[in-house]
Amino acid sequence: MGLTGIQIFKLLPKTNCGECGVPTCLAFAMALASGSAELDACPYVSDEAKEQLAESSAPPVRPLTVGTGDYEVKVGGETVMFRHEKTFVNKPGLAVLVSTEMDDAAVNDKLEKLDKFQYERVGLNLRAEMVAVKDAGDADAFVALVNKVKDASQAALILMSDDPEALSAGVKACADRKPLIYAATEDTADTLGELAKETGCPLAIRSSDGYDGLIALSDKLTGMGLKDLVLDTGARTAKQAFQDQTAIRRAAVKQVFRPLGFPTITFPCEMADNLMDETLLAAMFIAKYAGFIVMSDFEAYSLFPLLLERLNIFTDPQRPMTADQGIYPIGDPDENSPMLVTCNFSLTYFIVSGEMEGSRVPSWLAVVDTEGLSVLTAWAAGKFTGESVGTALNKMNAGDKVAHKNIVIPGYAAAISGELEEELAGWKILVGPRDAAHIPKYLKEWKPE
Ligand code: SF4
Repeated sequence: MGLTGIQIFKLLPKTNCGECGVPTCLAFAMALASGSAELDACPYVSDEAKEQLAESSAPPVRPLTVGTGDYEVKVGGETVMFRHEKTFVNKPGLAVLVSTEMDDAAVNDKLEKLDKFQYERVGLNLRAEMVAVKDAGDADAFVALVNKVKDASQAALILMSDDPEALSAGVKACADRKPLIYAATEDTADTLGELAKETGCPLAIRSSDGYDGLIALSDKLTGMGLKDLVLDTGARTAKQAFQDQTAIRRAAVKQVFRPLGFPTITFPCEMADNLMDETLLAAMFIAKYAGFIVMSDFEAYSLFPLLLERLNIFTDPQRPMTADQGIYPIGDPDENSPMLVTCNFSLTYFIVSGEMEGSRVPSWLAVVDTEGLSVLTAWAAGKFTGESVGTALNKMNAGDKVAHKNIVIPGYAAAISGELEEELAGWKILVGPRDAAHIPKYLKEWKPE
């Protein structure tokens, strides 16, 4: 992947006009190669050169989207094998399966769960975002089910059928929602390739002939002009599927092998006979290296851990996760409720807010921007001082939330209480527990001074 500076230079106009902000085309080429310049800065690059440069700088796993609007799922775009090397970019889409074999009540139940199991964490909405609609051999029922799901949910769709005609009818019923078409095989590649071209929808491919078959299909369909493909090796055992995911990522990232440089789709729903095993497999695929994960069902206890795992793995390890600075209501607090202050390191926020929730004492949690550092580290680094906390609380108009003007600081930051008292005129500074585990007891006994 990636052209050298000299290779890029050969594609530039070589007039050294300087309009790109550097004096020569060679300097601009070097800047492009190092990623410190954007190609658009040169107004004179030919379309042909643009195409070549874009191609060479494309990520080894092609990014693509399924769905539209709030439920658009972007996958791919990955550039590394391991998260600690750089970062994983686009989290896999989590889908729940509905099929024409299910009765209305079962389908409704799954759609309701998809809608119901949503969680607010660190200012983000965590949820599964896809529905896989499967044709069990009845084309009319399949189209009816596609329409039902489309009308009932905004979720991104995966349409699954072995019958190209049924698939075509289903895709046409919801092409405006950009579903993923699943799946072209050696027998159906021509028909479904044309369908994908006509509708602009991404197309999954599945081969019964191992990697060679998948590569041949990929080559054939890209040769037809398709760009957005999704790979299924057909493996339905944990060992083989794990091996395939790793081999495909390795071929894409290490060898820049374009025929396998696409996101993958996996089916824990076809690999286990109970939800716990299925969830474990999904957890494996989140880490290694699925683009889409299709589950037979979700329960709160199975989905929530997957969503948290996905959130953690698909965040940049070089940038601590943070909560936004602000005052968060926990429970249904009023002006007489206690107010605690903490840092914006998301793990601290999770733990403190969790303990506050667990106490069942409605309270306010004031989160101060410490650039993602924990309380003690932020205090040591001068980012959780009386002055900075006081300034933040004033900026957040903490006084508008509580009438008692008491603020509880973390026990580990007791040293800032004097300085904070000077910053917050008229406020009483209370020192809370050192350990978050003691917060519930503290809150139950809290009284303003
Ligand atoms: S604007 Fe384009 S042609 Fe002009 S110096 Fe920069 S790279 Fe060369």
